[in-house]
Amino acid sequence: MTILTDNAQLVLRERYLLKDKKGRIRETPLEMFRRVAEAVAEAERKWSDEKAAKKWAGIFFEVMKKLNFLPNSPTLMNAGTPVGQLSACFVLPVEDDLKTIFETITQAALIQQKGGGTGFDFSHLRPKGDDIYTSGGYASGPVSFMKVFDAATEHVMQGGKRRGANMGVLLVNHPDIEAFIAAKSMNDTLRNFNISVGILDAFMEAVGNNDKWDLIHPNSQRIVKTLEARKLWQEIVRNAWSNGDPGLLFLDTINVANPTPKLGRIEATNPCGEVPLLPYESCNLGSINLSHYVRQKNSSKTVDWDQLAKVVEIAIRFLDDVVEINRYPDPVISEKTLGNRKIGLGVMGWAEMLIKLGIPYDTMEAVTLGEQVMKFIQEKSNASSASLATARGSFPNWEKSIYYPESPLRHATRTSIAPTGTISVIANTSSSIEPLFALVYQRKYVLNNDTLTTVNPLFLNYLYEQHLEVNDILEKAFEKGTCKDMEAIPPEIRDIFKTALEIPPYWHLRHQIAFQKYTDNAVSKTINLPSSATLEDVDYIYTTAWSSKAKGITVFRDNPLGKQVLNKGISG
Ligand code: ADP
Repeated sequence: MTILTDNAQLVLRERYLLKDKKGRIRETPLEMFRRVAEAVAEAERKWSDEKAAKKWAGIFFEVMKKLNFLPNSPTLMNAGTPVGQLSACFVLPVEDDLKTIFETITQAALIQQKGGGTGFDFSHLRPKGDDIYTSGGYASGPVSFMKVFDAATEHVMQGGKRRGANMGVLLVNHPDIEAFIAAKSMNDTLRNFNISVGILDAFMEAVGNNDKWDLIHPNSQRIVKTLEARKLWQEIVRNAWSNGDPGLLFLDTINVANPTPKLGRIEATNPCGEVPLLPYESCNLGSINLSHYVRQKNSSKTVDWDQLAKVVEIAIRFLDDVVEINRYPDPVISEKTLGNRKIGLGVMGWAEMLIKLGIPYDTMEAVTLGEQVMKFIQEKSNASSASLATARGSFPNWEKSIYYPESPLRHATRTSIAPTGTISVIANTSSSIEPLFALVYQRKYVLNNDTLTTVNPLFLNYLYEQHLEVNDILEKAFEKGTCKDMEAIPPEIRDIFKTALEIPPYWHLRHQIAFQKYTDNAVSKTINLPSSATLEDVDYIYTTAWSSKAKGITVFRDNPLGKQVLNKGISG
């Protein structure tokens, strides 16, 4: 049986279910899952027959129908339709050449139109004010070009479904880095971009030692300017504190894990940061709903490892089939993507798994279990990828990869923790590895300004089970977004239901690091900070993220600009 909440149905009706020319919905949610399952299982025919395709279509349908596993949104929207672009994540190159810049903008627009997100490294662009020999003029610099990319995105609504999203990266030694860091400090500039500074280990060491830091021209390699490393760092921290941007990408850590260093250095990620990619690569994501993998055993609850192993195997096969049937927007993207066959299996519902197990999020027990769960998923993913490699062949660049010659694998990367912003709403669970955002909250829909009120189902269950004054408590929880001060609820239960802002930032980071340890790609995580957080708090989180080998980091201080999509309590 599939139980879809009102929220899930609204999202599906607005953006996922196919419509006819007059805009009338022409499939049910179950028909959508069937469409996706059948389209994806078509790939099975390549190695087997009609019967196998049918069998796998049935298995894929079941896992989606039960909301145990969901692929990223573009797969749900586009599989089995003439659009056929199924990936959520792309990185495109930006070269220091006007013609190719505009070609990249065209490619990005086409990708976004079909639901994909795009990331770019702007570090190859010459700095603002540099000479342009062909015209005798002066270059406008990376930040100015980013505004052109942003304007293009602004006008490409994804089939009327959602706004596009971009990641913009600039290397910490680019001469325009100071302008970049401040680029989002003005309300509404670059609003379709997340921005991240491309951090080098040498820079972090210079900050630690209070050394000077050279800004270097990307073409001539000459030193354009020398700054105090610590001053630049403080500017990064101040901007992140005030508006959540810039985040950081730890490029050296990312490149230590680059599975194909011979094919080039990784310089950028997709919009939410969970997939570092080479230029022209794309990646398909999918997420397992962990909240469905808790079982009663004797008198206590435990993780259902056997069932978890099964769903991982199905999910990896599903994502491999997606790579196969995907229609890529451009021949170069097709070539680069099929060379590495990167996929990113991740999770959602982590916070709800913990609640069901009775483990508060801000404890070592939770962090240790996080490591254990992700290690298990990684090992099973590797085993599935290896067995697909035996049956179907390793990814074509395998011989040029770090896995050669010991480990034949079908995919250069297997795991990735995506934000699951929309698919967790469809699955009615907590997003990604985030704690609950609020117990009762309103969700604003960007497109039509609709708001819906939602109560966390586990919290509601608890209230019913304990015969508590449900209405009273919900009203209070709605006002405050938490059950922190409610005496009617025992303290150990309040601990289990702590929401994102009640959890100290350090624990947010601990979970990110725990999952990163066993994730091939990266972990998308927002470190929530209360509005009272200080610059020192941000400094500490950013520095600790680097020293703990995170691949990137983003903080979000409660409502500094009033731009949150999710709003806590009634005030939202
Ligand atoms: P979903 O839940 O819709 O599958 P996620 O929130 O997990 O998506 O995001 C996964 C990735 O999908 C992002 O990192 C980004 O690459 C892409 N993405 C998400 N939202 C958008 C958007 N509005 N436009 C373009 N790409 C997006």
